[in-house]
Amino acid sequence: MKIALLSRNPKLYSTRRLVEAAEARGHEIHVIDTLRCYMNIASHRPEIHYRGQALTGFDAVIPRIGASITFYGTAVVRQFEMMGVYPLNESVAISRARDKLRSLQLLARRGIGMPVTGFAHSPDDVDDLLKMVGGAPVVIKLLEGTQGIGVVLAETQKAAESVIEAFMGLKQNILVQEFIQEAGGADIRCFVIGDRVVGAMMRKAKEGEFRSNLHRGGEAKVVRITPEERSVAVRAAKVMGLNVAGVDLLRSNHGPLVMEVNSSPGLEGIEKATGKDIAGMIIQFLERNAAKGTTRTRGK
Ligand code: ADP
Ligand code: GLU
Repeated sequence: MKIALLSRNPKLYSTRRLVEAAEARGHEIHVIDTLRCYMNIASHRPEIHYRGQALTGFDAVIPRIGASITFYGTAVVRQFEMMGVYPLNESVAISRARDKLRSLQLLARRGIGMPVTGFAHSPDDVDDLLKMVGGAPVVIKLLEGTQGIGVVLAETQKAAESVIEAFMGLKQNILVQEFIQEAGGADIRCFVIGDRVVGAMMRKAKEGEFRSNLHRGGEAKVVRITPEERSVAVRAAKVMGLNVAGVDLLRSNHGPLVMEVNSSPGLEGIEKATGKDIAGMIIQFLERNAAKGTTRTRGK
């Protein structure tokens, strides 16, 4: 296969591992800087140019699109789709996953468990919104946040009101969520490929912190997940339309709750925690699925 790996930085762990895994399995793989792709949106001959040359002959594209370049990045993936190149994750699914509110609505519609979540626009509705999600303690999240930044635990009604009002005053969109105390500052990242969880790790927040993000000092270790957790993670990825996803779960008293579904899950934490060759499994998935011209979103 000839594979395009869209990544802004060839030195990143995930990028390096995917290149290694593809080459070890005898494939040709090119790391392509997403923001240096430029495109010709012609009706019959869609093209992508890169550093003065047309990109041709690719069988598959692996998008590793950072949150800050979602708009341009998904346009590049869509262009590959128009050229009949098989995307590891489709552009529409990536866009969907990047909108936390839309993702939660889609998951809820399909009956997937999640923390009770509310959102509102007007400060006048904050009182009632807090009642709706069961009152303090609540977790307040900036819709545009990543890596745990903009995720706040408000332990009292008063604290919740002032944090929400402050965010609204700054014209930020927010979610207000039931705090799952029994999760004990830990969450579970399930790495899904196709219809399987290929690895799972528990991330535990450092002392005095409720956010388990590795970027916030959390620690990861391998974990055995239950059949129910396995099936929830696979279903969540499926609802989002993602072939490869990082599904984050909280262990609650009433079963696994989905917090988030990531479309570009990092490989470093999960490979180090599980000792598995997850990059190799991603390439194997492409070997099984990337027949030319089989993208489902061509022109749609
Ligand atoms: P981000 O997308 O920025 O990582 P998350 O929504 O995943 O934000 O939240 C960051 C962390 O905060 C989670 O990994 C989890 O440990 C904790 N957390 C988030 N929401 C809740 C909640 N409703 N109850 C308990 N802990 C939560
Ligand atoms: N790509 C990283 C991951 O999925 C970070 C995503 C995020 O912070 O939401 O682990």
